[in-house]
This record gives sequence, C-alpha cells and structure tokens, in this order.
Amino acid sequence: MCTPLQKLMSTLKTASAIRATIARSSTQAVSTTHAMLLWCLLMACLATPSQALASAPEAKHGVAIPVLNYHSIGVAPGNTYVLHPDTFARQMDYLATHHYTPLTLDEFASVLSHKMPSPAHPVLLTFDDGYANNAEVALPILQQHGFPATLYVSTGLVNTPGYLTWPQIHELSAAGWDIASHTVTHPHLPKLSKKAQREEILAARAKIEQELGKPADTFAYPYGEYDRTTLKLLRKAKFRYAFTILEGWATSDQPTLELHRIVVDSQKTFEDWVQQLTEDTSK
Ligand SMILES: [Zn+2]
Repeated sequence: MCTPLQKLMSTLKTASAIRATIARSSTQAVSTTHAMLLWCLLMACLATPSQALASAPEAKHGVAIPVLNYHSIGVAPGNTYVLHPDTFARQMDYLATHHYTPLTLDEFASVLSHKMPSPAHPVLLTFDDGYANNAEVALPILQQHGFPATLYVSTGLVNTPGYLTWPQIHELSAAGWDIASHTVTHPHLPKLSKKAQREEILAARAKIEQELGKPADTFAYPYGEYDRTTLKLLRKAKFRYAFTILEGWATSDQPTLELHRIVVDSQKTFEDWVQQLTEDTSK
C-alpha cells in the first residue's frame, strides 16, 4: 500500500539523491549536460507536490466523484423517494465523520475538469424537484455540518402545495446552495416535440436566472429521461453539465451532458448507501 505521503517522501528522497549526484558530478567534473539533465528530472519530480498529496478518487482515465441524488426528506414509509429525516441526518453524520467534502457546483466542475486538485473524499449533494422540506428539514441538517448542496428545481412546481416557494429558494441560495434547472413541468422529455422540449429547458433556466441573478447552466433530466434532441438543445444553449440517473459515480470520462448519479433509495439499507458512496460502479 503506497499512501500519498509515502509517495511524496519517496519523491523527496529521489530528489535529494539527484541533488547529491549533481554535487558529485561537479566535483568529479562529469559533463555539465549530464548534471543539467538530472536537474530537469528533479524539477519534474517536484512540479506537482499538491497533486502528490491529494488522493483524488480516480476513474480509469480521470477523476471520479459520487453525486448523491435526493428528492423529498420526510416521513412516508414505503416511498422510495422520501427519505426519513433521521436517515438523512445519519448519512450527513457519516460524511462528516469520514472526512467527506461536499462540493459546490463550481468546485465540482473544477475538480472534474482537472482545474483544481480534488479533496481526498469529494461528494456532490443534489436535490431534485424542489420539495418544501428541502429548506425546512434538509437545510438545517446540512448547516450543522456547513455542507453546500445543489437544487434541481422544476420551476412550474414552485409555490404549489408541498413544494418550495421562491423566498425559500432565495434562502437556500443565500445559504450557499446552487440552484439549477429540472424543467418547468417535470415532463417525460423524449415524449415532447423539439419545440416543447426547448421551452421546458430554456424557460426554467431563464426563470431561475431572473429570480437569483446567477447562471443556471447545469441541468438534471426529469425521470433521468432524454434523447438526441434533448442533448442537442442543451448543447446549443451551452449547458455545462447535465445529470442522469445512470448508476454509479460521475467521472471525467463520461460525456458532460450524461453524468451519472447515485439515486438515494429510502428502501435500501444504510450499508447499501455506504457501498454506493464508496464503490464506483459506473464502469
Ligand atoms: Zn425529478
């Protein structure tokens, strides 16, 4: 087992060995070219110390990040998409005690595109649809840990019974949540005409951006459903990322508009949830 610290120590040992060789080289009048080559090698070894320390989860060819997909946090026994508040609190405690770092959307994008080194245990917390209990129940639990989250809201559901109001969405945004689009009416997108799909996608984004004054250029597919038309529309409107409900972690190897997520199923055991969080099954 080679820990990042061991790797760094080994790099430093190699570096001091090269330094010693260079020193010997000069006294023994070995060619300057030889010494220069060794010096370049030393610089290459030391070029990325922060990367050496970060134990970013790696996909086959890049970074992998578990993206948890929550819906309603409440009490509704037997409903897959309604997670009991105590279970949600237990899951957040697990993330905290196991040193997970929930990311903002911008941090997620930077890590996935290799612009920022990954924390040791990154995770993205997403909430779909826009249930009122996201603000009333989930937010206080997340705030206890200082965890950010991302809301994928269907704008046509806002201000209807059981769903968030715009003042609550402003509250989430002010608390550090990213707010993004999950269409207007939560339709089965592949069943719609191109014109209707465009309206669902663009009107929701425009409404969120108008309300909050921030870009809402990521997307989550209602029911995880999309077709080639959906992908073309998102690409044309320059959406940065879109989340499916395809199983497994999101990785930098996946198309940016077809990132995987882990749907948190309230009917599964806590151990199942831990396994989904800790083992990448996207390959
Ligand atoms: Zn949904």
